[in-house]
Amino acid sequence: MIDTPGMRELGLWDAGDGLDRTFSDVEALAARCRFRDCTHTGEPGCAVAQALETGSLDRARWQSYQKLRTEQDFAADSAGWLAAKEKKFKEISKINKANRSRSSGK
Ligand SMILES: [Zn+2]
Repeated sequence: MIDTPGMRELGLWDAGDGLDRTFSDVEALAARCRFRDCTHTGEPGCAVAQALETGSLDRARWQSYQKLRTEQDFAADSAGWLAAKEKKFKEISKINKANRSRSSGK
């Protein structure tokens, strides 16, 4: 991972710590799955699916964990994230330029 100056200020690096602390029980449960790369979407021997079935894991809690996990994956792909952000900025500046030329052309 490239440690670009300024990236820490965006708080992307802190996401991992928070996830581990808040959902340590979910993480522990996921670690008990038969497969280490279990995606918990119907694999045999999935401890998460089993816990959801028996009710020992709250479905809403699991969903919020997955949501946070997605955000963390997104943050981990910082290069892609920055590229998307840069593209957005270019689009915005293009719109601003167009607006400027329209108003000055009067
Ligand atoms: Zn699983």
